[in-house]
Amino acid sequence: MSCFQVAVLASGSKGNATVMRCEAGMVLVDAGISCRRIVQGMQKLGLRPENLDGVFITHEHIDHVKGLETFTKKYPVPIYASAGTWRGIKQTLPRIDLQLCNRHIFAPQTELTLGGLQVRSFSVSHDAQEPAGYSFRCKGHTFSYVTDTGYVSDIVKRELDGAEVLVIETNHDPILLKNGSYPPMLQKRILGTRGHLANETAGRLLTTMKALPRQVFLAHLSQENNTPDLALSTVQGIVTQQCPNATIQFYVTSQDEVVKNREWEDYHEQNIFE
Ligand SMILES: [Zn+2]
Ligand SMILES: [Zn+2]
Repeated sequence: MSCFQVAVLASGSKGNATVMRCEAGMVLVDAGISCRRIVQGMQKLGLRPENLDGVFITHEHIDHVKGLETFTKKYPVPIYASAGTWRGIKQTLPRIDLQLCNRHIFAPQTELTLGGLQVRSFSVSHDAQEPAGYSFRCKGHTFSYVTDTGYVSDIVKRELDGAEVLVIETNHDPILLKNGSYPPMLQKRILGTRGHLANETAGRLLTTMKALPRQVFLAHLSQENNTPDLALSTVQGIVTQQCPNATIQFYVTSQDEVVKNREWEDYHEQNIFE
């Protein structure tokens, strides 16, 4: 068992939000679905949004911040993002009142402590102002979150080493993308170094980690240029070929359904609305 309860409420180009809960605290990564869906998703898990210790935003694209304006009006939870991402959020959500937000600037390649959680922000490569991934450390265990990155930089590689539970982007299959309906400019953007990660790149990344994670969520799947089966079989194929004894538990995330790890199974009713 890992010490992290992770539930991906939604993942994909139409919206992203993930809840992570552990002994040291509870956080939300991205708020790219409506506030109502975030609240309902959390309530189904027995959680209250007002009990979040923080919300961490990866970048300002609408599929990562859509619910933020309403969320910040309703809940005084601290929101963390890089300075560039805050500038971008103001452009994406012009009506958001940044004075009202419990707003914190969290620079990539720095660390903060939130209750018993150590949180690190690190740069990823994406066509946003100052995009980031995050690692959360609790009692020597690490949960890491990386989506929306065109390639795996040395920074990302270094930051992911040691992650026991990982949310990693498997956006597309390059052949499906090239043969699909996307116009050449959009294909170029997705395939570029500031675009999105391909299934096989995510698979290869896993095999180069110092230790394989125990649980991996495949995230931000394109609905046009990927399928859940293809993402899983590609990543699993690469991992099994390189590391025949690997025992990773994979979870394929979804745009419409909550996908959660097995750590929620032992989470009994007495904890409801803790
Ligand atoms: Zn995205
Ligand atoms: Zn993006």
